[in-house]
Amino acid sequence: MVERMLTVVGQLGLHARAAAKLVRVASQFQSTLKLQRVDNDQSADAKSILNVLMLAASAGTTLRAIADGPDEGPAIDALDHLFRNSFGEAKSIAAPEPVNSLRAEVRWKGLGVSEGVVVGRVLRMHGNTTYVYRSKIEPGEIGRELERFREALRRARRELQGVKSRAENELGKEHAYVFDAHLLLLEDAKLIARVEGHISQELANAEWSVKVVGDQLISVYSEVKDSYLRERAADIEDVVQRLLRSLSGENRRPGKLAEDSVIVSQDLLPSAVAQLDLQFARAIASDTGGWTSHTAIIARGLGIPAVVGLRDFFRNARTGDQIVVDSARGEVVLHPTEATLAQYQEEIATRAQRRATPAKQTIGPLKTADGVEIRMRANVEVPVEFAGIKKYGASGVGLYRSEFLLSRRGVTVSEAEQVSAYAEVARLAGEDGAIVRLFDLGAEDAPGLQAETERNPALGLRAIRFGLRHESVMRTQVRAILRAATEGRLDIVLPMVADVKDVMQARAIITSETEKLKAEGFAVGKVGIGAMIEVPSAVLTADKLARSVDFFELGTNDLVQYTLAVDRSSDQVADWFRTLHPAVLLSIVRSLEAARQADIPAIVCGEMASTPVYAALLVGLGARDLSMTPISIPRVSRVLAGIDSREARTIAIGCLECATADEVEDVVRERFGSQWPELFPKEGLPQPRR
Ligand code: PEP
Ligand code: MG
Repeated sequence: MVERMLTVVGQLGLHARAAAKLVRVASQFQSTLKLQRVDNDQSADAKSILNVLMLAASAGTTLRAIADGPDEGPAIDALDHLFRNSFGEAKSIAAPEPVNSLRAEVRWKGLGVSEGVVVGRVLRMHGNTTYVYRSKIEPGEIGRELERFREALRRARRELQGVKSRAENELGKEHAYVFDAHLLLLEDAKLIARVEGHISQELANAEWSVKVVGDQLISVYSEVKDSYLRERAADIEDVVQRLLRSLSGENRRPGKLAEDSVIVSQDLLPSAVAQLDLQFARAIASDTGGWTSHTAIIARGLGIPAVVGLRDFFRNARTGDQIVVDSARGEVVLHPTEATLAQYQEEIATRAQRRATPAKQTIGPLKTADGVEIRMRANVEVPVEFAGIKKYGASGVGLYRSEFLLSRRGVTVSEAEQVSAYAEVARLAGEDGAIVRLFDLGAEDAPGLQAETERNPALGLRAIRFGLRHESVMRTQVRAILRAATEGRLDIVLPMVADVKDVMQARAIITSETEKLKAEGFAVGKVGIGAMIEVPSAVLTADKLARSVDFFELGTNDLVQYTLAVDRSSDQVADWFRTLHPAVLLSIVRSLEAARQADIPAIVCGEMASTPVYAALLVGLGARDLSMTPISIPRVSRVLAGIDSREARTIAIGCLECATADEVEDVVRERFGSQWPELFPKEGLPQPRR
């Protein structure tokens, strides 16, 4: 047996390409070759790329190489040579970084945005990747599942061989090494054994097992401080994705979330949501987001708990890890101990008992105590929410966020597919009709269509601007809505219009598509055109805008964001996101007044409408038409039915006199709380912040 100390001197650490060279060299010898980190004793078989990558050895790491066998001398010399030559890459030494792999209970603080407590298992979701569900298999199905996995491996290897030889021919051997690393991973006996072990021991489908093992590997990299090496997790992700694609190539229907899946993401984009069978999701936890982020809106719509703004939780969680999501405390617990689990199980049981008494539902037109009629419409995003339209007695759909139709295929949902989606919404909405918002996309949602990433996507080519720039996408959608409008009542709302010019341009497209469809022999329904009021320029020109459209929709989520210049999805500035800021209230009054003067409806459809005390204030400010996630309708209706709109108006006028959000919140808390204490318990009122 011979030993030698070797230091990783390559500038880039022992990343995939270097590891591939190492494994290729080591595999030429008969002797066993072991590498051991001197800082944490972790060791690896030098002939297994999985093992070598798991060392996560960044530049400067010292390894003890141990060779044992008939050719141990030449073997250790060959490794030494490779290390000294820094795997054929430029030399430079950086400080070693510790790798830490905690498995103990850890708590992460965030913001609870949808009520409830859930114990479950992590399902990590990356942007732009294939999503994977866990299916339970029967013991008798293990053999078949293993065979599916092996067949997928063979297919992926064949594909990669092709990619590698093309790269060798076209780019040269050096560049092909990275594919060699991918190939070695697919051939790695230890990796294969881990996936197969997971399939048979956990009785899990192959996709899930690949994902769990891949995530374990990736998470080793996420913990490395060396940023270059950390990013190399992308190579592993690449291989995992290739395998998953290969598995899905068999056209097997994806399984359902068979158990307690908690979706863990950095940010849940509409394109990701579109692919998920959300009916089976138990909870959501995300790194970014605030009260009005789409993750929060979706979670509330589905009635599942959510904690957002967890910062860098995503990279610390692995698919399959046990997790508790506790929105009341605004935290998640990873790897909970037995004691923590027992405490939560008890809490969950108590909550379930409390929930057993169903909330009273009001169906039909809602009137305040003094007889003012308030229309309650539904906001919907995904099909699982559709049943709520009828169940909670909504007067039609006030906002259909159509961008949730788009999967990661990009903006390529065909006209026919869209026609059937809109017709379905129209049918569910009944005679009250549905308002379809044109795709409200930004650079973050449609990266494939943007030439370059924007520095400031919230102010960039998004919403109606995106549609006007990518006219063919908009024209297809408009055609689909016009055709579906023959099946039921549909209107179009234009997201984030800045002024009348945006409306005129959109209207011209709608008119021209109407004419074209007629010329092509299609039946076309009559649709109204509305404008979302979400930015200060729209508020300040609301009187003119009101004369150019059939209705307004007040998107208070964005109205707060743009009026106060506070990113709605950033937890950093969540303290400045103040829905009750007087500037926001003044903007609402101005927009409602402009609509009233022009005699057009104005629907308030931001999250504000779904919070009882905010809804009462909106009524005081003059709103008579609200749209919210269906599940909130009974709760908000109960409160509005109990208030007197004249009293609410007096309180609202008091709020308009205030200079700061704190002052408005004081007025709201004191006045609504004392006027109707039974309707507004303390916990439902804004909490004092000072
Ligand atoms: C809003 O901005 O208030 C709104 C309703 O639209 P979204 O939340 O989808 O931006
Ligand atoms: Mg908006």
